[in-house]
Amino acid sequence: MKGKVYLVGAGPGDYKLLTLKGLDCIREADVIVYDRLANVNYLKEAKSNCEFIYVGKASSQHTLPQEEINRIIADKAKEGKIVTRLKGGDPYVFGRGGEEGEVLKAEGIDFEVVPGITSAIGGLCYAGIPITHRDHASSFHVVTGHLRADDKENPEINWNALANTGGTLVFLMGVANLKKISENLIKEGKPKDTPVALISWATRPNQRVIISTLDEVHETAVREKVKPPTLIVVGSVVNLRETLNFFENKPLFGKNIMITRSRTQSSSLVEKIMDLGGNPIEIPTIKIEKIENNVALEQEIRELKDYTYLVLTSKNAVDIFFDKLDEMELDARALAHVKVCAIGAATAREIKARGIRADVIPKRFVAEELYEALKEQLTSEDKILIPRAKNARDFLVEKLREICEVKEVHTYESVIDLSKKDEILEILNQERVDYITFASSSTVKNFVEIIGEENLDKIKNSKVISIGPVTSKTARDLNVDVYKEAEKATIEKIVEAIVVE
Ligand code: SAH
Repeated sequence: MKGKVYLVGAGPGDYKLLTLKGLDCIREADVIVYDRLANVNYLKEAKSNCEFIYVGKASSQHTLPQEEINRIIADKAKEGKIVTRLKGGDPYVFGRGGEEGEVLKAEGIDFEVVPGITSAIGGLCYAGIPITHRDHASSFHVVTGHLRADDKENPEINWNALANTGGTLVFLMGVANLKKISENLIKEGKPKDTPVALISWATRPNQRVIISTLDEVHETAVREKVKPPTLIVVGSVVNLRETLNFFENKPLFGKNIMITRSRTQSSSLVEKIMDLGGNPIEIPTIKIEKIENNVALEQEIRELKDYTYLVLTSKNAVDIFFDKLDEMELDARALAHVKVCAIGAATAREIKARGIRADVIPKRFVAEELYEALKEQLTSEDKILIPRAKNARDFLVEKLREICEVKEVHTYESVIDLSKKDEILEILNQERVDYITFASSSTVKNFVEIIGEENLDKIKNSKVISIGPVTSKTARDLNVDVYKEAEKATIEKIVEAIVVE
C-alpha cells in the first residue's frame, strides 16, 4: 500500500468553512497532523482508529520545529498511511505548506494540496470588512507581521510601497510588532487617521473586533490586551463594517450554550446553535460501558453461518462487534454471506473502516427508516443478528420480529458519567454560560448527580431551557430553576426558546 499526504486548508475556524474535499481527506485519513488554528471539531469526522498528532504553535513558542513536522508527515506516509495535514486557513498562506510539499516531493511521496479559506480574506468578511471595494481599495496586500529583528539592514518589507499603494493591507502574525508596523507605515506617508481593525479569533464564536486608527492602534491593542491570533486590517474598507457586519449580528452571537448530551445525540442542536452564531458547549453526561466477557455475543458469532443479516445501529455497536471478531481470530470474511445494515451514514463509515461496505443505509438516521428500508427485502426465511445497547428502543426489534427471526444481543449500555464532574465545574467556573439546555429528565438528573447539589449555585446565573413539562418538573424537583420551556418537544423549539427572548 502506498501512502499519501493531503495538505488541507482547514479554513479560518467557523466549522462549516471547510471544503468538501477537505472533509473527504479528514474522513479518509489514517493520521491527522493538525495545529492550533484548525478547528478541533473536525477531528470528530475522522475514522475511529485514526491517529491524531498535534503540532500546534502558539505564536513565538513553537511546539515542534518545522523540520520535525516535515519528518513526521513524511515518515507516516512512508508507512503506507494516508496522512492529512490540517492547517488553519489556506496551507499556502504563511502556513509553510510549500516547504512541506517540497520535502514530500524530494522524498518521492505522493501529495495533494487542498486550498482553504484564508483568514486573510474570510476573517475580514466575518468582521463585516470586504477586502476590496470599488470606492475604497482596488488591491490588497497580505503581509507577515512576523518581522525578523534585523529588518533595518535587510528590509524584507517595502514599507514605502505598502504605505502608498492605496490597497487594503492585512497583516498576519503581527500583534507583537504592531508598534513597528504602524510607525513604519506612518513614516512612509500613510495618513495617521487611516482606520485599522484588529480581528481576533475571526469567524469563531469568540470573535472580537477592535477599531482604531493607525496612530493609536498600538496603544489601543495594549489597553484591550489583544492577543494572537489576530488579523490587522489597515484601510478605509474597515469603515464598511458598520453596514456589512452580519456575523456579530446573528441572534446567538457571543452566547455560550451548554448542551447536556443524552443518549439520542444532540448534534442537530449543536449545528443549529452554530448556524445562529452561538457557541455550543457539549457536555456528555453519559458514557458507554461495554458488557465484558460477552458469552452471548461469542455464541452468536460462532453461529454466524445461520444469519442472513447483521444490523448495526451505532459506532459502539460496530466497534464492539468487530473487536470481538478479531478477538476470536476471525475477520470480515466471516460476514461474507451476510448483508450488513447501518442505521446511518456515520455508522456506515465505521463499518467501511472495518473493511465492509454496508448493504443497507437509510437516508435518515432513525430506526423507523431502517425498518422501512429492510422490510422491502426481508422474507420469513431470514435471520437477523442485532448486537446493540441494553437500553435501546424496542421499536426495531419488535417490528422486524413480525417478519422473521431476530436475535438481539446486548453488547453495551449507557451509564451516567461521573468522571465529568471536574470538566463541567471547570467550564462553569471559567466561562460565562448563558444558557443550559436539558432535552430529557434523565439529562437533568445526570447533570445534577454529576456536579453535585452543593454546586448548583454555579448555574444560578445561567438560563435553563427545558424541552417540556416533564423535564421541567424533574428540574424543579432537583432545585434547578427553569427559565423557559420549549413550546413543543423538538430541537427547533428549544432553539426558538433561546432566540426569542
Ligand atoms: N494559513 C493561515 C495563516 C497562518 S499564519 C491562513 O490562511 O489563514 C497565522 C496567523 O494567521 C495568525 O497569527 C493570525 O494573524 C492569522 N489568523 C489565522 N486564523 C485566524 C483567525 N481565525 N482569526 C484571526 N487571525 C487568524
